[in-house]
Amino acid sequence: MCEMKLQASGARPAYQAYDVSNFRTIPQITALTAEQCLAIEVVAKVFPFRTNSYVVDKLIDWDKAPDDPCFRINFPQADMLKPAHFARLADLMRCEATPAELGRAAAAIRQELNPHPAGQMDCNLPTLDGQTLPGLQHKYNETVLFFPSHGQTCHAYCTFCFRWPQFIADNGMRIEAREVDPLIRYLAAHPTVSEVLITGGDPLVMKAAVLERYLQPLLASTGNGLRTIRIGTKALASWPQRFLSDPDADQVLALFEKVVRSGKRLAIMAHFNHPREFSSDPVRAAIARIIASGAQIFTQSPLLSHINDDPALWAAMWRDQASLGCVPYYMFIVRDTGAQHYFGVPLVRAWHIFREAYQSVSGLARTVRGPVMSAHCGKVQVLGVCQVNGRPYLNLQLVQGRQADWVLKPFLAEYDSQAIWVDQLRPAFGEAKFPFQ
Ligand SMILES: *Cc1c(COP(=O)(O)O)cnc(C)c1O
Ligand code: SF4
Repeated sequence: MCEMKLQASGARPAYQAYDVSNFRTIPQITALTAEQCLAIEVVAKVFPFRTNSYVVDKLIDWDKAPDDPCFRINFPQADMLKPAHFARLADLMRCEATPAELGRAAAAIRQELNPHPAGQMDCNLPTLDGQTLPGLQHKYNETVLFFPSHGQTCHAYCTFCFRWPQFIADNGMRIEAREVDPLIRYLAAHPTVSEVLITGGDPLVMKAAVLERYLQPLLASTGNGLRTIRIGTKALASWPQRFLSDPDADQVLALFEKVVRSGKRLAIMAHFNHPREFSSDPVRAAIARIIASGAQIFTQSPLLSHINDDPALWAAMWRDQASLGCVPYYMFIVRDTGAQHYFGVPLVRAWHIFREAYQSVSGLARTVRGPVMSAHCGKVQVLGVCQVNGRPYLNLQLVQGRQADWVLKPFLAEYDSQAIWVDQLRPAFGEAKFPFQ
């Protein structure tokens, strides 16, 4: 606490944002070659790019860039585009194409990268009195997703983000709600919904006063089934000062306390990708403050090739999380969008990594579920490889389903060591369909 007071009264670490317009001013950028810097500009035409001074100064090991995992979490690299896409854009840039020409080429490439996977734009849209409610998604009975318009950005963008189209200006692809009233009416009409997950982007980029404008009506609402408010965030990993020394940090914590005092459970769904993200003093202090507010922290991450595809690393993360009082929650499979070809890990290998990591942590860290694909039908967990009559099969189940009845019915798929997504699997024994089809 003393440390925090000192920080608040004295030198407040300044949030310096970097994007494609000013990343060349980062002092450490001299660790990269001219070609690598150019690749950042090319890839950033397609995927959003933004980072900040904490990531640059405290997380990235510049001696190891560009192979450093924390560098790769944030900085675009040539291989994140398919070679043909990269060449198309690089050629246009070399022959000094106009911004409009480059924009059209980038937009065409984006359309080839499945910008809205898992039926987000057509199947999850709730309606009330015949009207679609913008900025809400409702897929699983108990939980409604809410995308406040002020929270549709992040302190730093992940190169593997599956919501990457949210951060591209003026593309008609954004999911966002400008007001909370439709959500309140929707909850009243659907008393089986017990949870609202406020998500983005990162809702904790919002000023505390703005966040309160969204939260207060939820706390005051009655006559619905709301018990838990979840907030999805990566601020603990990419800007922990959000909870320590930002001008409104104390207000954020006070707001958390207010939610808890109102009798609702507050769950912070924290996104972490690498054990290094737990090693700084600020992140540890921020976790302690959040837990002291009465909120709980659940942790999740995708399993990422080139970044964290190593069981020892996952075991280290889960141990750190558990000992800091966080609850390990999901290991996700990289979704079928964006740079999946670069980050994806085959399902069989993902299961081996999960299993080896799980075997080496205490029961209190075995709260984690994985590896899980957040797919169109629901959340599909790879249970493992089993043998039937001497032949290997993949055993899977849904832990969440678009239809509740699909949940926890194990099923088998033909073994495929290379498949990276559920749509590449075939039902076992020549069956025509999986149970969820
Ligand atoms: C993952 C997800 C949820 C939350 O699922 P839990 O298993 O309860 O964490 C809710 N809605 C959608 C659309 C999701 O993808
Ligand atoms: S913090 Fe989350 S929403 Fe933001 S870029 Fe990373 S993965 Fe995407």
